[in-house]
Amino acid sequence: MLRRLTLLTIRRSIHVSAKLTQGMTIDGNTILAESLKKQGIEYVFGIVGIPVIETSMAFQAAGLKYIGMRNEQAACYAAQAIGYLTGKPGVCLAVSGPGLLHCVGGMANAQVNCWPLLVIAGSCPEDHEGIGGFQEWPQVDSSRMYCKYTARPPSPRLIPLHVERAVRLASAGRPGASYLDMPGTLLMAEVDEEKVPMDFYNAEPVKLGHPDPALVSRAAELLSSAQRPLVIVGKGAAHARAEDAITKLVENTKLPFLPTPMGKGVVPDSSQHCVSTARTQALLKADVILLLGARLNWMLHFGQQPRFAPDVKIIQVDISPEEFHNSVKSELAIHSDIKPFTESLVQKLAEKKFSLQPSSHAWWQELQKKQKANTEFVEAQANDKTVPLNYYAVFKTVQANIPKDSIIVSEGANTMDIGRGMLLNEKPRHRLDAGTFGTMGVGPGFAVAAAMWCRDHAPGKRVICVEGDSAFGFSGMEIETMFRYKLPVVIVIVNNNGIYSGFDKDTMRDIQAAGDPTQCTPPTSLSCEVRYEKMMELFGETGHFCRTTDEIEAALKKALAVTDKPSIINIAISPQANRKPQTFNWLTESKL
Ligand code: ADP
Ligand code: MG
Repeated sequence: MLRRLTLLTIRRSIHVSAKLTQGMTIDGNTILAESLKKQGIEYVFGIVGIPVIETSMAFQAAGLKYIGMRNEQAACYAAQAIGYLTGKPGVCLAVSGPGLLHCVGGMANAQVNCWPLLVIAGSCPEDHEGIGGFQEWPQVDSSRMYCKYTARPPSPRLIPLHVERAVRLASAGRPGASYLDMPGTLLMAEVDEEKVPMDFYNAEPVKLGHPDPALVSRAAELLSSAQRPLVIVGKGAAHARAEDAITKLVENTKLPFLPTPMGKGVVPDSSQHCVSTARTQALLKADVILLLGARLNWMLHFGQQPRFAPDVKIIQVDISPEEFHNSVKSELAIHSDIKPFTESLVQKLAEKKFSLQPSSHAWWQELQKKQKANTEFVEAQANDKTVPLNYYAVFKTVQANIPKDSIIVSEGANTMDIGRGMLLNEKPRHRLDAGTFGTMGVGPGFAVAAAMWCRDHAPGKRVICVEGDSAFGFSGMEIETMFRYKLPVVIVIVNNNGIYSGFDKDTMRDIQAAGDPTQCTPPTSLSCEVRYEKMMELFGETGHFCRTTDEIEAALKKALAVTDKPSIINIAISPQANRKPQTFNWLTESKL
């Protein structure tokens, strides 16, 4: 490896001196790096190998931040999380063939979540195509289904054009993924520097889409005529950076609001107008719903019965008109960016003719009654500190011992669902979870991105990565990435020995004694009490293993005092711990 790096350095210096003497050529790698820089790209996450090692160095030389990860999937998750946090796509750099194919899950996740991402992969030299080139694969075709834009620049001169377009399409309108394919021959090609239009389209940011004022008036009328109004705040509102406008709307009108999982924090969870603890009731009974940047998909039970009232009137606001009327016909469909829409609505509702129901109204009382009952149930569970612990006791302790402005990364089944209710978000874009696609394995990649973002944009802010034991297994090796880049992520593993739920040691021993392990080991089970925290010892550090709430509290205090490396807190909970009984099945049944 050292030899390879030395060769690279020599090759680079020959290259640079050739450039100096001729003063006129530039290679594909440098054009790509400079073009990304020109488009405002800040972060690249990736894994290098043939043919993109020189590419990664060119990126660093251009001043881009390069973070080397341990699996392309995690790199791709990190790149899209930074896209969501900064509003500018993160880049994921991968090698050819399998490298790019490992990114496919990441690209799909970005598309489904509507997050900006640019994947760039090296591909086999064009003169090896069709004759069994190393890692040869139809990469542009493979990526097309997962992206808004895919291209292989046909010549070095056209790289700046394709970079501009890939970045613009990933960010504009409904955000998503772009893919650029870079054959080794293109990356290494030398062209006359003067003939490369580096300034190709350094376009102004697209002006935000504003709503039709007549539709804003109708929205105000509908809301003020409602008996049981509700605002739903989605991650589109978080992406739109509409937090100030929506907080003002909620405070001025006292309308009850419900955030979606990643809409949490646009208005603080602690707001008295937040009705998350009466979610089922709020959805079921609302007669007018203002839907701000959320799709009526499985997460919102398709907007249909039995989870919504049959005659509910929905005011749907979205940047993407293709989304309108998708699962139910909306009463009003408003094509607009959430921010200017909400600002106009706040102004409109301030006019005298609109008067909303006061917070003493029967609707509020009904919601508050439900909130009280649900909170009491959760509190009773959370105060039960019997060992092995239940989820609620774990989350109450975590919530009480972390800074309130932390970024919460979370994935798992019960761990994520119960944690969503108990780990509060006071700020927007401070919750990153399995999202619309329900993807497992996203956590450590998201946490790397979030910690990078904190370091550069909010020093001192902490990232708490709350993982189910199964979820952690998908991308756990990214702990090494966190050590290498000195990222103080606090990883909390809620360990129940399995997927959904597991078994205790004795039961597991009896089950497995029954015969062929492939026939009798329950597919949901994992090994008992795996000591994930011992991964810290790979780096000469000590992790935390906890069984009680006191141990969790002590571990969190120690972990939060560390500011230059990650920590792992592995919490053994009851393998049979479960979620509070639900009124409806979590995944609304299909009627077919
Ligand atoms: P959630 O997971 O919170 O329910 P979804 O991902 O289902 O949210 O929906 C987000 C919606 O927000 C998408 O339909 C997307 O088109 C929309 N959206 C994204 N950015 C904006 C924006 N700036 N203004 C308006 N709508 C937006
Ligand atoms: Mg588990």
